[in-house]
Amino acid sequence: MYKGIIERYRQFLPVNDKTPIVTLCEGNTPLIFSESLSNEIGLKIYLKYEGLNPTGSFKDRGMTMAISKAKEKGATTIMCASTGNTSASAAAYAAQCGLKCVVLIPDGNIALGKLAQAMIHNAKVIAIRGNFDDALNLVKTITEKYPIELVNSLNPFRIEGQKTGAFEICDSLKAAPEFHAIPVGNAGNITAYWKGYQAYRAAGQTKTLPKMLGFQAAGSAPIVLNRIVEKPETIATAIRIGNPASWKSALAARDESQGLIDAVTDEEIISAYKRLAAEGVFAEPASAAPVAGILKYHRQGYFKDFKGARIVCTLTGHGLKDPNIAIKNVGQPVTLNADIAEILQEVGI
Ligand SMILES: *Cc1c(COP(=O)(O)O)cnc(C)c1O
Repeated sequence: MYKGIIERYRQFLPVNDKTPIVTLCEGNTPLIFSESLSNEIGLKIYLKYEGLNPTGSFKDRGMTMAISKAKEKGATTIMCASTGNTSASAAAYAAQCGLKCVVLIPDGNIALGKLAQAMIHNAKVIAIRGNFDDALNLVKTITEKYPIELVNSLNPFRIEGQKTGAFEICDSLKAAPEFHAIPVGNAGNITAYWKGYQAYRAAGQTKTLPKMLGFQAAGSAPIVLNRIVEKPETIATAIRIGNPASWKSALAARDESQGLIDAVTDEEIISAYKRLAAEGVFAEPASAAPVAGILKYHRQGYFKDFKGARIVCTLTGHGLKDPNIAIKNVGQPVTLNADIAEILQEVGI
């Protein structure tokens, strides 16, 4: 029976016999071959569909580690700042093992599904008048001074757990891909994947490393601009971050892998979001950023010397997290009378 990422990849993770494993059986998510993207780009494109984790995002991989280690330490309360998915995940894992969970979210800028998750799992949810970066600063200060565990990706155990996404991809492909494309917000996940690919190669599981291709939203692109963005803006709220906590390690992942970190516009993000949905894969807007990114780089000829190469895109969160944005971009259903003739006319038969 599958028991989650800690049991599966125990030898790569900082756990011991005394660590109480708190799991919702996260991980083991599908790697979907995208025929349509592969045909257009001329390489093999795979989608690592992290929306199928227990709370609907990759955050669960890090949270099973962070919460297990908090339990091991005897913590009673955890806290995080969140654009939404971290709080949903923290709330669920805390609920499972009886920890108190406090989350700070930016007022008015959190997707409906994520807010619903944090609330239904009984987290103490506090919306602050400020953005994510303000919320994270508050959480850092509070958790330094009081006996509360921080479970943002500044918590090194989060990054450790998130490495397992890279392990699963290598296990599925029986090799590392040539490219790995990923959205960049607080930059914990690009850091984690790079660490994971390196650890797997060091252990002899793979022979090569991918180039890391990170994509920020144009209105929230501090790493691309090389300066803090005071008022980050983007429709992709999960990456609406102006001062990433893992900035330095994201640059290291980019440079050591000879990859890149660039920005894509909200228009490009929405177009990629709708395109993924049109091939049956519903991911949230932030998750579409890497797809928008590789399409942009394909148009610029970036991949032309890499025939036969594989690109894996991490689709970080489920589309159902943010139903409002879906409806806003596709409109409402038509309403007709309960009449066969009217229906057939509408369908065009
Ligand atoms: C958290 C999150 C991101 C950004 O990940 P970082 O590790 O902060 O760079 C991207 N997409 C989704 C759906 C997320 O929840």
